[in-house]
Amino acid sequence: MAYLDKLNDRQRQAVEFGAGPGLPPPLLIIAGAGSGKTNTLAHRVAHLLVGGADPRRILLMTFSRRAATELTRRVERITTEALGSGYAAEALAWAGTFHGIGARILREHALEIGLNPEFSIHDREDSADLMNLVRHGLGFSKTESRFPSKGTCLAIYSRAVNAEESLSQVLRNQFPWCANWEAELKRLFGGYVEAKQAQNVLDYDDLLLAWAQVMEHPGFAAHIGATWDHVLIDEYQDTNRLQSRILLGLKPDGRGLTVVGDDAQSIYAFRAATVRNILDFPSAFTPPADVITLDRNYRSTQPILAAANAVIEEARERFSKSLWTERESSEKPRLVTLLNEADQARHFVDQILANRETGMRLTQQAVLFRTSSHSGQLEVELTRRNVPFVKFGGLKFLDSAHVKDLLAVLRFAQNPRDRVAGFRVLQLVPGVGPTAAGKVLDALAPHIHPLEALATLNPPARAGTAWKDLIEALSGLHAADWPAGIARARAWYDPHLDRIHEDAETRRADLLQLEQIAGGYPSQERFLTDLTLDPPDATSGQAGVPLKDDDYLILSTIHSAKGQEWRAVFVLNVVDGCIPSDLGTGSSAEIEEERRLLYVAMTRAKDQLTLGVPLRFYVTQQTRNGDRHIHAMRSRFISRDMLDRYEVIHWQPPILSDGRPRPPAPQAIDISTKMRGMWS
Ligand code: ATP
Ligand code: MG
Repeated sequence: MAYLDKLNDRQRQAVEFGAGPGLPPPLLIIAGAGSGKTNTLAHRVAHLLVGGADPRRILLMTFSRRAATELTRRVERITTEALGSGYAAEALAWAGTFHGIGARILREHALEIGLNPEFSIHDREDSADLMNLVRHGLGFSKTESRFPSKGTCLAIYSRAVNAEESLSQVLRNQFPWCANWEAELKRLFGGYVEAKQAQNVLDYDDLLLAWAQVMEHPGFAAHIGATWDHVLIDEYQDTNRLQSRILLGLKPDGRGLTVVGDDAQSIYAFRAATVRNILDFPSAFTPPADVITLDRNYRSTQPILAAANAVIEEARERFSKSLWTERESSEKPRLVTLLNEADQARHFVDQILANRETGMRLTQQAVLFRTSSHSGQLEVELTRRNVPFVKFGGLKFLDSAHVKDLLAVLRFAQNPRDRVAGFRVLQLVPGVGPTAAGKVLDALAPHIHPLEALATLNPPARAGTAWKDLIEALSGLHAADWPAGIARARAWYDPHLDRIHEDAETRRADLLQLEQIAGGYPSQERFLTDLTLDPPDATSGQAGVPLKDDDYLILSTIHSAKGQEWRAVFVLNVVDGCIPSDLGTGSSAEIEEERRLLYVAMTRAKDQLTLGVPLRFYVTQQTRNGDRHIHAMRSRFISRDMLDRYEVIHWQPPILSDGRPRPPAPQAIDISTKMRGMWS
């Protein structure tokens, strides 16, 4: 059993738990970050296989497809090592996410449960579109006071389904600003369900809902449960009520069931996950399930762990205990204060490249953030400096439609011969489609001054007054100074935003951010060149993951970084208003979830951790007009008492704002001590 030698005693106990004849009793492994939970789970599965368990009768589930693939690979590696022969991961036929497995179960049993087995599955985007159609059909989109957007409607619906709460409960607790639409929403959701059934469609939530409903029938539950001997789940703290009902339905006596998780890392309550699932797991069975805890962290160095522990120790309630590690290091995590987000981006990229110089590949480094839109500034800096990156948990800033639109306006005004830009811009005008746009561009091509020619052309047949506005805007732009030009372009685009996009407010904020970023460039030309965008045509919509042996940096939301680890981790915007994301308006449960998020982010780091604290922070939430910057403060989760766990750095760019290099300071002075000294 050499393959178990590397495990510590408790991990090994968890791996071998319940060995012997018959199925093992239920087991909960609950422990902090990086204590080897996932690793232990992989060993447990491998150990079952080595002991002769049938891989087709093992169900292995976790929170994402990526994590499931990684887990199966680990199992494969360990089993192969133990058996000394190849062991194909495909043999583990039932590894995936709850939703993925649900889809298979429903299809396999469709006829028995009255579903048409040909059903198709709608992803979130499809679902929102269908919700929108029904909304239009019922005339709700034309209401005088604004009816909730399709995204909000779907979120309300999804919450009610996944949390098993009534509509009025959900509205009261999560969406109070939509409460006066309760009757309409009820009709909308009724219509939505009917539409799905008429089209033989299941949405994402249905995969769980229908599965859970089938499991209510004891006969069926036993029938489906008999498919597997062993059911093992990772990241159990982030499951919702439907998922726990499914699980308990599959294995009512808990035999063969192993769940793994960390209550301190539950970060999906906003999507109806409940930490009660993991905390109440033992008592769901008689006798109660066994609990194994792990407290040795193998991932992070001692100083990183100390900083992360300090953050989570302030949490209101917590089951798993603080961790310890034997990984000594003299390098404390860095807490870097910077003037603004532009400096933060610059400094992080400097550090990332410096790390690479010392042999740390880009793939061993990650930049994490609370919200996808927070990485805009960084993405621009990475693009400018030619550092390849892959982003998880959101669209790349520069790939988003509205950013591309605005850039296309600038490019077209600058170079009216740029067909790609022109094609995009012309179609922003209502009534102008691809054919009309193409014709206009053809007509412009022979002219020496295409913009002037544009004004003399007959407008496309169905383009209304907006055509004239476009022409004025373009010629105004051509003449405008920098960076006033981008403000003008934005002003022209602004009304179109509302027409083209549902979530215009968020996108508007992105564009303001782009304007801010642009302000840091000496000229429009430099700005556009530095961004070196792929031609924004239809075919290059998806950037795609670079080739395997390419080196690229990882950008990820904290939510999508769960379960992973990197040698160096950088966290953007560790300021109040970002982590926690609400400036003190959230409920205390929400604030606690934000604290755990920061804990998850920090515990991803193995060797090096850097937290950025920009003093001026750009708010993406809508604020009426006015300044969208706030003067930020260090996140409240890192209290003054914790500062000694960090190397606190105040970073300044080596170049002054007028482009002169910053002269070295004559000599270190400590003005604070000096000022205090006056009175002591
Ligand atoms: P998270 O809470 O973030 O999901 P986890 O508890 O699942 O973390 P793992 O990802 O399984 O932790 O392990 C963290 C790191 O520690 C991995 O690099 C893993 O290989 C290593 N590790 C785990 N157990 C041991 C061990 N007994 N000896 C050496 N390394 C170990
Ligand atoms: Mg894990």
